[in-house]
Formats: sequence, structure tokens, C-alpha cells
Amino acid sequence: MYDLMLKGGRVFDAAQGIAGKRMDVAVSGGIIAKVAPDIAESAARVLDVSGKIVAPGLIDLHCHVYEGVNQTGVDPDLVGVRSGVTTVVDGGSAGFANFGGFPAHVAPKAKTRVLCFVHIARNGLSTMPEIGGRGDIDVEETVKVVRANKPLVQGVKVRAIGPAVPSLGVEMVKLALQAASQGGVRLMVHIGDLYIREGPTLTQQLLPLLRKGDILTHTFTGNLGRIVDAKDNVLPELFAAQERGVTLDTAMGRFNFSFEVARRALDQGVKPKTLATDITVPGRLNTVHSMTEMMTRFLALGSTVADVIAMATANPAAALGMEATLGSLAPGRVADITVLNEVSGKWRLRDTVGSSLTSDKALAPASTVRAGEVIMPDWGPHPWGWLPEQA
Ligand SMILES: [Zn+2]
Repeated sequence: MYDLMLKGGRVFDAAQGIAGKRMDVAVSGGIIAKVAPDIAESAARVLDVSGKIVAPGLIDLHCHVYEGVNQTGVDPDLVGVRSGVTTVVDGGSAGFANFGGFPAHVAPKAKTRVLCFVHIARNGLSTMPEIGGRGDIDVEETVKVVRANKPLVQGVKVRAIGPAVPSLGVEMVKLALQAASQGGVRLMVHIGDLYIREGPTLTQQLLPLLRKGDILTHTFTGNLGRIVDAKDNVLPELFAAQERGVTLDTAMGRFNFSFEVARRALDQGVKPKTLATDITVPGRLNTVHSMTEMMTRFLALGSTVADVIAMATANPAAALGMEATLGSLAPGRVADITVLNEVSGKWRLRDTVGSSLTSDKALAPASTVRAGEVIMPDWGPHPWGWLPEQA
């Protein structure tokens, strides 16, 4: 007898080559025991998920969950297990000087698996802009925090924007890369300037520095530093980075997602790997809303359900180098499972620069299983719940 059975769902598991097949998923002792059609054995608890999507637990590769420390830090479980997401990756909310709260207070309290990138700026994103000059960066101290906090820490973060661009320039990125390299982790680089609308940008200089496995976040930003030039052609440096195996992530946040840039980039052959949220307290309420709404944005851009699930499961697992443990429903894995409703309608999806697209289907969380425990989603980020705005 199993502990839990998810009965009759449409299973999507890119890592196992399963795309929408009707199967049952059995869980025992917090571990996935069996995935097969019509499992005959009984279970202590059966969830009827017929008609619903059953996927590996969603992984949000870039969000901000330093709740209680940073002004915009959101409760990791609110955007985690209560939003259909079983793993959240904090994108540099903390730097070496204030990282201690993550292992002491945030990660141990959360049901959601919490992973972090340490910001190269001493106090992370507690005050923004976070880098005023060279004195805000200490490579050695950052490396110490990285080494002392693995596997909670998975990388180093830098935002290649802001008032230090004219003075420090690409040196900011080089220092962050040095810390990542010495710490034996990957680098995540934010592009898309929030502070200036014109002037030099670092994007073309930093792209050639990124190594295979490093992550470019906000790939579809419409701000200064975007990946398309004045004629809307994708920068050759971006294609070279994609070719080299740099992970292209499309986190949206409050300011960095343009359907127009997305359209141009996709048409020219840019292949984003992951679709993180960059969610914060205000971003949850006003712009990005949820991981499932982010997935629905890509449905509106023409991706398939199987594609958007891969971009939220197997791909971010691979981006973290954790494909052997996360992002699949293979038997023997920790039972992190996301059940989704696929709802037909006419849905309006907004970007951060005033444009919108419609989609005839939307995804919304139905239930989450985290290490075998069933957790129901909360009300959702909109006044009416989870689904996007009606068109
Ligand atoms: Zn962010």
C-alpha cells in the first residue's frame, strides 16, 4: 500500500519523454514509488487528478524570498508550495554582509526548497541601487559565504546596471565572475537598466565573459541593455553565448519583460531555457503574479504546454546542475509534484512595458506535493484568484 496516489492525471515529464500521457503517480515515504497507467495497488490517500496536468514540482530559478529582511522579499511558501512551486531560487537578495538570515531564519522555516545566489554587492538588494563604487564589492568575503553555505548557495549574482556602470563598467561583472569561479559556482547576470534610459550599456561587453552554465536573466527585457539593437536585431554576442551553453532565463519581475523583444528574439532563433518569475511582494500583486501566469505568457507567445512545463522543471533543474535529483517524476526521486489546471477561455497576459497578448488557455495551480506532503494553493495573486485577467 502506498502513502499517496495521484490518479488519472495527464503526466508531463520532459526528462522521461512523457508529454500528456494518462498515468498514475504513487508516492511512499516522501519518494516517488511508481509512475504507470492504472496502478492497481491501493494508497492511504488518493487524489483524483483526472483531467489535470501532473508535472514535476515547479522550480522558480529567480525570485526574491528574503522575507522580513528585504522590503520586497516575499514569503517563500507563498510563492513556493502554495503557488505550485516546490523549489525557489533567490536571485541575490543578500550579499556577504547580510546573508546569515537565509540559513538561520528563511530556509529552515520554509516547506519550499530554498536555494540562493549571493549578490556581489555587500548588502545584496537590501538597498538599491546596490553598487555605488568598488567599495561595495568584496570578492574574498563573497567567496567565504559561498563556500560556507553550499548547497544552499548555488551561485553569485550581479546586476550589470545602475550608477556604477560609468565608473566601474564591466569590472562589476568580472569581480562577480571571479567570486563565482573561486567559489566553484555559476554566475547569474541581470541585464535591463532601471536607472538610466540612455548611455552605454554593459550587455555586449559582458556576454562574451559568461561561461557555459552561467545564467543570463531578463533575456526579454525592454529596457536599456536589452538583447536587440536599434534595428531590432539580436546581438551576435547573445547567439554566441547561447551556442556556448549560457542559460537564457526570461524572469520578468516588475520591469523586465517585453513581448515585442520576446517576439523579435524568438523569431530570430533565441531559445530561452527557463521562465522564472523574479517575483517580489509588489511584483506578485502588480505584474508577474505567479509562476503559472509566467508559463501562460509563453503559451500566449506560442509555446506548447509541454514546452512551458519543461522550462519550469527539467530546464531549471539542469541550469542548477541538479538534473539528477530535481525536475523529474522518475521513481526514487523526492516526491515534489505539481498538479495544474489547464483552463480554456480568453486570457489577457501583460508584459512590463504596456503591451499584452491573449491566450486561449491558462495554467493555474491545483495542488502541490512537497516531499510527499500534499499542500493546497492559497487564494492567488489576483482579487479573483489564480487565472489571468479575462480578455
Ligand atoms: Zn531579481
